[in-house]
Amino acid sequence: MADVRELMGRLGPTTVKFDTGRGGVPALTNQDIAAALGMVPAGLGRELLEALWWPESGARRSQRVRQAVIALVAPEYIRQQQALSLARTEFGIAKACMGWAGGAVTDAQRVERSRAEAKLEAVRALCWPNNTMEQLGALTAAVISEMAGAENCDACDGRRVQAAHDGSGVVQCECCDGTGLEALSGRKRAIAIGADKSAYQRFWQPVYEWMLERMRGAEREAAEAFNRALSRAA
Ligand SMILES: [Zn+2]
Repeated sequence: MADVRELMGRLGPTTVKFDTGRGGVPALTNQDIAAALGMVPAGLGRELLEALWWPESGARRSQRVRQAVIALVAPEYIRQQQALSLARTEFGIAKACMGWAGGAVTDAQRVERSRAEAKLEAVRALCWPNNTMEQLGALTAAVISEMAGAENCDACDGRRVQAAHDGSGVVQCECCDGTGLEALSGRKRAIAIGADKSAYQRFWQPVYEWMLERMRGAEREAAEAFNRALSRAA
């Protein structure tokens, strides 16, 4: 896959022919590559593919990356906020029911209040920070930068798998969770989003990792579609 992405990196405004570097594969022109890119379905993956590997185009299309990232993140953020609002309301109702209209507080009411409170805490713990949407620009830039500069995982050397402990073959690499890539440290991610390390770990890590995983997956699918279109063109 790296060779395909490298081709895109070399895709400039000129029409120079260049060899693919693979024996027997005919040279591809910029037009071939641009046409193959046109076959990649529109959306986040294609925008990321261009932003990462074709900077001239990526700069022109930064608005589209922004729209695609908002379309990815906003629905999940809204879902979390709605779940939080619902859990808060249920807890409020459970408290209001305690000794309703001067009546005695029942065990059932106490149980219900505890349940609603525990639910609220559990939902709150899974929520991203309130200012996630305000920070989306910084998060997006940091995630794209990590994607662009990612090194192979030291443990599996980018192979994504490791030998199984019981000797029964191979399993997903534990160090990189099967991505084949070295994760940036929390300290570096914190610097990239303009937070300190403890704020990253307490508040931002879940949303950062959620975005990284999905953006990587979208870009990988787009790169595969690009690769298939390019093989047809060659
Ligand atoms: Zn690994």
